[in-house]
Amino acid sequence: MKVSKRAASVPPSATMAVSARAKQMKAEGVDVISFGAGEPDFDTPDYIKEAAIKALKAGKTKYTATPGILPLRQAIAAKLKKENGLDYTPEQIIVNVGAKHSVYELMQAVLDECDEVILPCPYWVTYPETIKLAGATAKVVKTELSNSYKMTPKQLEGAISKKTVMVLINSPNNPGGFCYTPDELKALAKVLEGTDIMVLSDEIYEKLVYGDTKFVSFASLSEDAFSRTITINGFSKAFAMTGWRLGYTAGPVEVIKAMGRLQSHMTQNAVAFVQEAAVAAMTEPAGEVEKMRVEFEKRGKYMAERLNGIEGVKCVEPTGAFYCFPDVSGNFGRGISGVKINGSMDLASALLEQAKVAVVPGEPFGCDNNVRLSFACSREQIKEGLDRIEKWLSS
Ligand code: PMP
Repeated sequence: MKVSKRAASVPPSATMAVSARAKQMKAEGVDVISFGAGEPDFDTPDYIKEAAIKALKAGKTKYTATPGILPLRQAIAAKLKKENGLDYTPEQIIVNVGAKHSVYELMQAVLDECDEVILPCPYWVTYPETIKLAGATAKVVKTELSNSYKMTPKQLEGAISKKTVMVLINSPNNPGGFCYTPDELKALAKVLEGTDIMVLSDEIYEKLVYGDTKFVSFASLSEDAFSRTITINGFSKAFAMTGWRLGYTAGPVEVIKAMGRLQSHMTQNAVAFVQEAAVAAMTEPAGEVEKMRVEFEKRGKYMAERLNGIEGVKCVEPTGAFYCFPDVSGNFGRGISGVKINGSMDLASALLEQAKVAVVPGEPFGCDNNVRLSFACSREQIKEGLDRIEKWLSS
């Protein structure tokens, strides 16, 4: 049967594809180490589960207001004030079905054909597709390993055209594993002053920063930054709630209202009892989140050290999120165990089939020299997986 040109033009998520292949191999009894996952390996904390059960038993099973229940939007507003120094009212907040939904809906709400969105590369695979689905064009900005893959003010300035309507900032970054420092963000914000370019600041990994890295929200940099920024965040990474599907968007009221109009015809509200559980997630002590962060930090340091010890691999130590994004191009052009490696797709596929280690090729993130390894898996798995990669690359 016919599918639309729009749907036909969208590839499936590459990150999901690798996880699916690794899962299939595991189901067939193959001993696969998977560095493909984009989700914490920790379970959702019990106090959040209890709150969901309580809400279900209390009959919180009906439609809610499209933008989400007021107590949740109030809790989000309080969180944004306390932790991020941002003054949003509940009317400036919409709860979405995961931050992926937030990104898609925002693009649909603000972009038109002929609009350009500045997209620093590496980028999360979903951004270019959501830009394309909104009829707009991504203007990709290539970054350098020597600058930890961060976009410089000069690169941003060079990418701005008359058609630019948005810049995408994702810090801490998937897949880059970096976090912009406050000064770096300020320098980017300065370039935008005097323009009417909006900023999508995707802050979903905000709780996961390492070393002396300090996270700041883009909108908190100045009044100018606040007025042009739409902040997106969610519960998946910080509270290990990927399967619950809950994200949110905060920004100028006209944008949030436009998203609400679209959402009222798409998903309506996020799941009612999940919203209740999210209120509990936000209002109870955050000790569980900190425990995860400390563990991720140790794993990321170890993984980067090991990767840098392998010939033909260069890795920046992660300062945020839970990914290493090494440049593996030192291995391109040669044959490994009889397979010619010409790019990240070849490398990821041969590594999975031969050494039984799943990594995500960098090509769909815009960087064919790299692969992404998630350290959201146990330390034993990380050690075993890296042993296998080291052995395979030296074969
Ligand atoms: N933004 C980034 C940068 C991500 O990596 C992800 C998840 N991979 C999301 C948003 C979406 O998360 P979710 O839809 O689970 O809230």
